[in-house]
Amino acid sequence: QQQIQLKSRPDGWPTTETFDFKEVEIEEPKQGEVSVKTLYLSVDPYMRGRMSDAKSYVEPFEVGKPLNGGIVAEVVKSESDQLAVGDVVTGALDWQEYNTVSAESVRKLNLHGASPSTALGVLGMPGLTAYFGMYHIGEPQKGETVVVSGAAGAVGSIAGQLAKRKGARVVGIVGSKEKEDYIKSLGFDEAVNYKDESFASALKEACPDGIDVYFENVGGDVSDQVWPLLNTFARVPVCGAISAYNLEQGEQDIGARVQGFLVKSRVKMQGFLVGDFRDHYRDAYAELSGIVQSGELTFEETIHQGLDKVPDAFLGLFKGENIGKQLVQVSES
Ligand code: NDP
Repeated sequence: QQQIQLKSRPDGWPTTETFDFKEVEIEEPKQGEVSVKTLYLSVDPYMRGRMSDAKSYVEPFEVGKPLNGGIVAEVVKSESDQLAVGDVVTGALDWQEYNTVSAESVRKLNLHGASPSTALGVLGMPGLTAYFGMYHIGEPQKGETVVVSGAAGAVGSIAGQLAKRKGARVVGIVGSKEKEDYIKSLGFDEAVNYKDESFASALKEACPDGIDVYFENVGGDVSDQVWPLLNTFARVPVCGAISAYNLEQGEQDIGARVQGFLVKSRVKMQGFLVGDFRDHYRDAYAELSGIVQSGELTFEETIHQGLDKVPDAFLGLFKGENIGKQLVQVSES
């Protein structure tokens, strides 16, 4: 089987020198273990951080070792009483066609009719990230103006819809006309394209009463246009800053330009990790799956076919090629 390894650490944009496809054995499961076949593999922006060796909240990937991340897989051999052949599971697994792991290191999915891929998107880490960032930090109130950047992506598209459910006016920032139309179809009140020359004035026009919550996914120049529009006591859940992830070493500082403004307006800006809210996962998951099933929460997936497409799918995140959750389907169930 094929395995994707980290060939070398990128400085700036990942290239073909970053990924290595290697032929490896499929291991037989021992007592307590299962072999699982990868169905869907998630590519996520945070993985770029793990390709560097800078100290962070997750361990860096190791050069010459497999890359690893959220995967949905089907049990094909079981030496465990906990899982049977045919069960669909999710976990942090290596980027390859088959993984042989302890049954305890994966979680069996209870799909209630949903596609297994949703466990990597709206009903997985990105959906929970949107939920906690918006509801626990942003706390949008009825009539407030909420701006979401990266608004057509896995996290942003859900975050905006969750703010709408609280009665807020929601403005999304995206990078194409197609994405403007997409987020409007989700119920966003306004969509603004940061690649348009008139972006700054369009954003201001879309937010005549200023901004009360800014759900930050991108950082950099885009967000520079947001800061002056923040109202006194606005809240800023800082989820990510994707515009900085592929900067070369020495260019990484994007923070220093907002402090003065934050003080003057007593804006609350808080970085968060979805894992901070581990104790609330169960309730959030129940709420999200309820509104997905009832059709009140809509989601999109951009699905590439085949393990060989993983590097392109990953890089596509930084070029804005995805709408909703970017996934790779490695095999069929
Ligand atoms: P997305 O599905 O949103 O994909 C990334 C999108 O970012 C692209 O489609 C693109 O859309 C946009 N983008 C890429 N480069 C730039 C740029 N230079 N400037 C502006 N926009 C850009 O990814 P996710 O939803 O998975 O992640 C969104 C953010 O949330 C990321 O910053 C990620 O790191 C963060 N995150 C944080 C978590 C946490 O626990 N704090 C957990 C999960 C995600 P467009 O065409 O609009 O440019």
